[in-house]
Amino acid sequence: MTTEVIDKVVPGKQCDADRSLLDLIYHTELATKPGVSRLPKKYMGLSDSEVDKRILAAKAKLGDRLVVLGHHYQRDEIIKYADYRGDSYKLSKSAAAKPSADYIVFCGVHFMAESADILAQPHQRVILPNLSAGCSMADMAPTEDVLQCWEDLQAIEGVKGKVLPVTYINSTAALKAFCGANGGLVCTSSNAKAVVTWGLSQREKILFFPDQHLGRNTALKMGYSVDDTVVWDPFQPMGGNTPEALRKAKFILWKGHCSVHKRFTVEQIQEARKRYPGVKVIVHPECPRETVALADYDGSTEFIIKTVTEAPAGTTWAVGTEINLVNRLAHENPDKTIFCLDPVICPCSTMYRIHPAYLLWVLEELVEGNVVNEVKVADEIAHWARVALERMLATV
Ligand code: SF4
Repeated sequence: MTTEVIDKVVPGKQCDADRSLLDLIYHTELATKPGVSRLPKKYMGLSDSEVDKRILAAKAKLGDRLVVLGHHYQRDEIIKYADYRGDSYKLSKSAAAKPSADYIVFCGVHFMAESADILAQPHQRVILPNLSAGCSMADMAPTEDVLQCWEDLQAIEGVKGKVLPVTYINSTAALKAFCGANGGLVCTSSNAKAVVTWGLSQREKILFFPDQHLGRNTALKMGYSVDDTVVWDPFQPMGGNTPEALRKAKFILWKGHCSVHKRFTVEQIQEARKRYPGVKVIVHPECPRETVALADYDGSTEFIIKTVTEAPAGTTWAVGTEINLVNRLAHENPDKTIFCLDPVICPCSTMYRIHPAYLLWVLEELVEGNVVNEVKVADEIAHWARVALERMLATV
């Protein structure tokens, strides 16, 4: 790893497997968005060993007052400093369960830090090392577009009053609050089926956002067909639907997707099976439905980790999820052959914005008593988002 700044970025090469992903993404970010990724100059150009030594020293000084959370999709160079690793919901709960920690440093993306703040104890402060670490999927459902959709739906006879909003946990706090305030709730990729089943016992239809793929895959698992779903495109009047189609639909799926998981295809599965007879294919339900249908298994990040880790020695796995997690699984399970289903290995580019230099910066500021890059959800939004999260917990 290096923290030197390069002055030339090669467009379209971010997914070049022959280059160091670590260097390229960091440099790309520094070169293209210097205003967004605020990092004091003195933290640029530090050697790996210097960064490492100072992060460990800052962690030691902060002791129990600090907890560092590392999402599974973070690079190894960040994960090694994490006190807990997990998916976003598991991490938020871990932090809340450690009340001695005044500071929660969340190495993940913005919506995860928001969830941690919503679930945190009142005295705990949540810090995202790089505030430009967002999520493209969460950004596909801006609050004003969802409010417009809701207003449109409430204006249709036969739809009005019959829709329950469900948001995937990968969404902004404002959307979670919207669900909480309108009788709806949050789901994760592991409990989506149970949440939606409960939702349909309350109202006739589900408005599911921001990920159309998780929504569609969940509907199919429940025995519904694609004909029971419509897609709501926020760039089209009435989402691109007729009132009749909306009256008929059981599921209204927001037109959003994960830029990482939509890359996994049927052709990749066919190629993996051709090259590795006997290979097992496991993918995340954020993948397109054709991919999920052809895979041997699909499930949440935690499900993928458990299934592959517990598989017998000598087995071969093609894994359709984020590359940092796949590489870690391969490293931690040397008795198995594990590789990414997509041969062009792309990390989640926003997760990748948490570079060790940012972690060092926020930790050293904490040692000095300064909280930088705090993520704080407004009280009103936090209240209703908590309602939606608690409704999920009461349901599953
Ligand atoms: S992997 Fe997909 S859903 Fe997760 S943070 Fe990245 S873009 Fe968002």
